[in-house]
Amino acid sequence: MNQCDFHYSHLLPKKPGILPLDENLVRQCRRCGTTFTTKSRIRKRCDACQQVVAVQKQKEANERLRARRAARRALELGLRTN
Ligand SMILES: [Zn+2]
Repeated sequence: MNQCDFHYSHLLPKKPGILPLDENLVRQCRRCGTTFTTKSRIRKRCDACQQVVAVQKQKEANERLRARRAARRALELGLRTN
């Protein structure tokens, strides 16, 4: 028997599953407070709020990207002129 065959994985704590459940869970939306059903254990918002937040996050991500590009352009211009 090889020493490498022994491992400790059975001693690690079991991770809680994030896979969809078979049954629906009733959750309360953290944004608008309405109750909704979901198969996802990690879902925290209702469908409507999820949509709103997704659009909002996309917009924020675009703005961050634009700001980073602008900063890099300014830096490149600064290096070129100095
Ligand atoms: Zn909601």
